[in-house]
Amino acid sequence: MCPAPASLPLHSCLLACPDLSLIWKSKAKPNGKKPPAEEKKQYLELEYTKIRVVDFDLKELVVLPREIDLNEWLASNTTTFFNLINLQYSTISEFCTGETCQAMTACNTIYYWYDERGKKTKCTAPQYVDFVMSLCQKLVTDEEIFPTKYGKEFPNSFESLVKKICRYLFHVLAHLYWAHFKETVALDLQGHLNTLYAHFIIFVREFNLVDPKETCIMDDLSEILCAPAPPPAPTPAPSAPDSAPSPSSQNHVTER
Ligand SMILES: [Zn+2]
Repeated sequence: MCPAPASLPLHSCLLACPDLSLIWKSKAKPNGKKPPAEEKKQYLELEYTKIRVVDFDLKELVVLPREIDLNEWLASNTTTFFNLINLQYSTISEFCTGETCQAMTACNTIYYWYDERGKKTKCTAPQYVDFVMSLCQKLVTDEEIFPTKYGKEFPNSFESLVKKICRYLFHVLAHLYWAHFKETVALDLQGHLNTLYAHFIIFVREFNLVDPKETCIMDDLSEILCAPAPPPAPTPAPSAPDSAPSPSSQNHVTER
């Protein structure tokens, strides 16, 4: 498997965020109380949706580059999304407990876990996420499924396994918005979450990896975040006609 150079700028942007290493050690944690179920979707407000860590076209990042094998590309991106979504969840994981999140919810959906024998199990959100991450970890590190050695072939089941991983990762992202957006904002990580979500959705759409029936619960957010250009910033106060625009008015990048 080869690296995915085209996706590096975004990922390094997230991983290089100097705040992230501090967050885990910070004692000034936000209140972990869960928002009431009837609360409106805070994450749809322009104040939050306009915040990203990059402002270039994410569509360009997901298109299969010439001369790269499709499976290699899917493998590389899927592995990266797994790592980034796991990292994003870890920033709020202490607030996602068996008490605060008794079920794996997103919008009005409850996700049940199906074990290897197909047995349906109701579990808490942290248990569900743990099942998801353990399964993804097992799959992406399995040399028979995600081969890294030159000349080794991908199995016939590869695409269906990638779809399975992406479906589960979507559940985790949806839960982050639904149940932990307030905490994400308190940690000032909404820009990272928005960028990660938009990149992920554009990627799975490009390769038809997740059934739209599955992602439709978040379509209101996806419409906003996956639009070709970020929503315009509020009109600044009128200034002298000959004054030069400030650097911050020229893009929507939040510097961290
Ligand atoms: Zn939770």
